[in-house]
Amino acid sequence: MSKLLPWREVPSAGWLEEKGNAEEYETGDWRTIKPIWLKEHCIQCLRCFVYCPDSAITAENGRVTGVDYKHCKGCGICAHECPSKPKALEMVAESADEL
Ligand code: SF4
Ligand code: SF4
Repeated sequence: MSKLLPWREVPSAGWLEEKGNAEEYETGDWRTIKPIWLKEHCIQCLRCFVYCPDSAITAENGRVTGVDYKHCKGCGICAHECPSKPKALEMVAESADEL
């Protein structure tokens, strides 16, 4: 086990040189599972939009339109929170064909 350093001796790591560049990082690269939006089951409650930690649920004029797969990291929160029965968001393997 490596020795823990006092904080003043910890070497500095990377830093962000520009603000507002989070969108450039495509967190979808990490994903192993992904949500599929099933429009026909969607009741447009917008819970997925509110709960998604990556703002990866797309919406227009107050209505969900799909998933931004460049930024969705496949956490599954949207599908967990989706209240419709049957669910309008279903998690599938990343390799599954997109609908
Ligand atoms: S799986 Fe996670 S990151 Fe992707 S849309 Fe759902 S809540 Fe957002
Ligand atoms: S949580 Fe489910 S039902 Fe609600 S808007 Fe999202 S996909 Fe549609």
